[in-house]
Amino acid sequence: MENSILGLHHITAIANNARRNYEFYSKVMGLRLVKKTVNFDDPGTYHFYFGDETGSPGTILTFFPWEGIGAGYNGTGMITGIGYSVPEGSLDFWVNRFSNFNIKQDAVVEVFGEQHLPFQDPDGLKINLVVPAKPDLRTPWQTEEVTGAVATRGFHHITLLLKNATPTASVLTDIFGYKLLKQEGNRYRFITDTVENASIVDIVEAPNVEAGRSAAGTNHHVAFRVKNEEVLMQFREKVIARGLNITPKIDRDYFFSLYFREPGGVLFELATDNPGFTKDEPASELGSALKLPKQYEASRKEIEAHLPALS
Ligand code: ZN
Repeated sequence: MENSILGLHHITAIANNARRNYEFYSKVMGLRLVKKTVNFDDPGTYHFYFGDETGSPGTILTFFPWEGIGAGYNGTGMITGIGYSVPEGSLDFWVNRFSNFNIKQDAVVEVFGEQHLPFQDPDGLKINLVVPAKPDLRTPWQTEEVTGAVATRGFHHITLLLKNATPTASVLTDIFGYKLLKQEGNRYRFITDTVENASIVDIVEAPNVEAGRSAAGTNHHVAFRVKNEEVLMQFREKVIARGLNITPKIDRDYFFSLYFREPGGVLFELATDNPGFTKDEPASELGSALKLPKQYEASRKEIEAHLPALS
């Protein structure tokens, strides 16, 4: 187990307006902003991390809010869906809440025998709240309005939309250790048994759907979780042995990463548990201050003056 992929680590998506994105995820969804930093490749842009109390792997949704980027749209070669698990009996609460905040939502549907409430964030990012057949026992972050009885527990699944399922499926099974669990129409569900939650990847095969456009309201990449840097580098060798290009190890301050584009076109990342989000601020203060990587600390004043206000 130690040397395996441990399900999902984080998902990164693109937003337009920073303040609107921050308000939606921290207030409407009731997630904790566990880190407020900048895009390491573009320090004029925020990088927000939303998750549970400490930003546990498998709960972290991150955003680059690029003001004025325009709307993207989903297509093949992309992550087109995110599923969060919620407790049984909580969907009525969410339907009412989304309705009160004028959030676009659709009727509850059943997928693989589980109830899904589909909705879109203010940029059009597609998310489902899922009541899993087996209750998700992770401890949620709670707010006054989104209590533990209804709060999201972390990721349930992601969905990849692909022209051809086979090459990507073989990365999941041969390299990452996932197994095909079941199929419903053109949706194939893969799962890893190394973790209890955030363990599912769905592939929807759609040979006639064109590529999408990556901009606001779409996902940028998905990161799979490994225990530490040693395992990370073992996976680097496995990906290279498969004939795929992969980056060197990159220090993302809160985890170490590798990136590669899987054969279906989706950007995959591998990310470590260490060192985690309490590296530069205590758990009780996560997300409260703007944190900069050391190469930008000298320019803090200019960067702060340039970033949009959040309240
Ligand atoms: Zn990432």
